[in-house]
Amino acid sequence: MPSDLEFDRRHVWHPYSRIEPDTPVFPVRRAEGVWLELEDGRRLVDGMSSWWAAIHGYNHPRLNAALAEQSERMAHVMFGGLTHEPAQQLVRRLIDLTPAPLDAVFLADSGSVSVEVALKMALQYQAARGMTQRRRFLSLRHGYHGDTLGAMSVSDPENGMHHLFAGALPQQLHAPAPRCPPHGDWDPADIEPLAQLMVAHADELAALILEPVVQGAGGMRFYHPQYLREARRLCDRHGLLLIFDEIATGFGRTGRLFALEHAGVTPDILCLGKALTGGYLTLAATLASRRVAETIANGEPGLFMHGPTFMANPLACAVACASIDTLLDSPWQARVADIERQLREELAPCADLPGVREVRVFGAIGVVETEQPVDMRRLPTAFVEEGVWIRPFGRLVYLMPPYIIQPAELSRLTGAIRRVLRQHLA
Ligand code: PMP
Repeated sequence: MPSDLEFDRRHVWHPYSRIEPDTPVFPVRRAEGVWLELEDGRRLVDGMSSWWAAIHGYNHPRLNAALAEQSERMAHVMFGGLTHEPAQQLVRRLIDLTPAPLDAVFLADSGSVSVEVALKMALQYQAARGMTQRRRFLSLRHGYHGDTLGAMSVSDPENGMHHLFAGALPQQLHAPAPRCPPHGDWDPADIEPLAQLMVAHADELAALILEPVVQGAGGMRFYHPQYLREARRLCDRHGLLLIFDEIATGFGRTGRLFALEHAGVTPDILCLGKALTGGYLTLAATLASRRVAETIANGEPGLFMHGPTFMANPLACAVACASIDTLLDSPWQARVADIERQLREELAPCADLPGVREVRVFGAIGVVETEQPVDMRRLPTAFVEEGVWIRPFGRLVYLMPPYIIQPAELSRLTGAIRRVLRQHLA
């Protein structure tokens, strides 16, 4: 039965939307490779990877098989007092792929929850060391860490609309966003504001949380890896834990398997999500260093106090293992490098369009930043009419395609951006 758009409008809440919205939603009936097929038969090249998760494209035989096989055995069992092979297989892979100190893994059920878990780990760690006054967090402006209250509190105060939740959100500290671009010379002045905040507030800070190298939903900004080395040094000097949120950057998107590799820096806690399951199911992971895990175990009550109902869901773990294996068996580095080259070349002409502020590319991420927020009543429809799925936000029109995208399909995405922006910004 086709979907009922009028019912949807009246009763179904969509992300960052309202009931009875004034912006369209498009019904999808199938997805395969990089293609989304709408109910009216139109086929769109997907430039979003379903919010950066579907790195292998849709309807992937190997991921489908993993899901089907696991569903024959068990879809889910509680993780309290029980355990299973899919979780262990996944944890083994995550430990193998990430820096050595990160070897205590909590499998959470979404990116936001993995951030809550990371924040709670930092609080329990500090309390276990007798630092019960270290209850606040330091984060970066233009950061984004999720939509739950704790994650929101460490996200950018303006983008995150903190004023809407004033009085209910924990008050954190936000350093100015890094300004040094990733490929230029490092300017030591870039770290100064962070250093000053840490010096002034070390006694009350449990951890610094940031997205390494690429700030995603808070502004699609790229910055110099040296910032991370300096941040690591400052955290060590002032007794803060360092939390990296690689929910958006993990699993190859920036050209390295994890963005932390651009700097060679190991955090104390690492959050992964999104592409972890290749976009199939909701699952995230919080990896802590042995030091953090053991300190929590030696504190009071000696337990880490979090345990979601769907923790380590076996279907999600099985598909995550298949996704990681598919990625590692593929020439993903060459693919991401090719996408980066093509994005650079084909988005460059957008910089000359009136109303465009900047074009920037890093890994398989291409961004066109406009002077004014784009018109969300018109742009998505204009892109659909061009045969592409691109969902801008604010002043950001961006592409994060599946890694399997072919050059002609990517050209369709970049061509659509050039034509639609030329028409709509004029
Ligand atoms: N952190 C980052 C860096 C993200 O990009 C996102 C999602 N856009 C989240 C956290 C939250 O993840 P989720 O939507 O799965 O809760």
